[in-house]
Amino acid sequence: MLSDVRSTNRFKADEHQNTINLNIDENVPDLVLGDSLRLGQLMNNLVSNAIKFTSNGDININISVVGESQDPTYVKFSVVDNGIGIEKENIEKIFERFTQANSNITREHGGSGLGLAIIKKLLVLMDADIHVESVFGKGSNFYFTLPFVKDNSLPIPEKSIESNENVLLEGIKVLLVEDIKFNVLVAKKMMENWKIDIDLAENGLVAVEKVKNNNYDVILMDLQMPIMDGLSATKKIREMGINTHIIALTASVSNDTQSEVYSCGMNNYLTKPFNPKDLHEAIRRAI
Ligand code: ADP
Repeated sequence: MLSDVRSTNRFKADEHQNTINLNIDENVPDLVLGDSLRLGQLMNNLVSNAIKFTSNGDININISVVGESQDPTYVKFSVVDNGIGIEKENIEKIFERFTQANSNITREHGGSGLGLAIIKKLLVLMDADIHVESVFGKGSNFYFTLPFVKDNSLPIPEKSIESNENVLLEGIKVLLVEDIKFNVLVAKKMMENWKIDIDLAENGLVAVEKVKNNNYDVILMDLQMPIMDGLSATKKIREMGINTHIIALTASVSNDTQSEVYSCGMNNYLTKPFNPKDLHEAIRRAI
């Protein structure tokens, strides 16, 4: 999930010449139960703030276990930047709605002053709180700790994967970007079975136009296409500030392709040919 947060924000980070590092302590369990959607929103918000207020710097996403408790395990999430920092007198104020500490930056980068207020509220609903340590001119560290129940079912039994396939995808809006008619037919047939609301684009350029005018939940993006390929289309979509989950459809699994896919801002990939189970799982993870 945190890799997704990193790849979603990588393009913006590159624009500011920032590097995002993901540091996960080895004592963090591989699998815990929690609300990954909300946690993803929280982390995305903190990371995108860190990028916004940092240039030529490092954004560290640090994950560690605190305390001795095994179940629940208390996991600390922190987003540390070496950007502009926050003046002491403004630190408490930034969690209020519509409050921004630095009007110059805001004029340049936009923002509503709502992000941190929402984060605080979400965390309070989860019995937690957001904390910040910041030194003006040096950088900031936003952190929170959440309890997680351990999931001891590793490896995931086959049965639970099957039952997951029954998760309804009905009504989800997917844009399928693919130039080869046969591939379109196959993927479309699978998704029609799950009553997904499918839209099609025959190349990257058409996809970029469609993304401008529609709200999709997930984009399935072929890589090699005429007129505009999948990597360029993804870059454009991320440049437009759109964070929709993009899954690459690729014929190759080489490390080069994988790193290209992530570094241009895609979130995941499926290798062709894929079966319905793989596609269902990828879409399920995305939403
Ligand atoms: P927005 O980013 O939309 O203005 P937020 O509620 O997310 O709203 O942030 C409120 C203010 O807190 C920002 O305008 C900025 O002044 C300050 N801030 C948030 N994150 C950082 C950070 N990582 N570094 C410096 N200042 C920050």
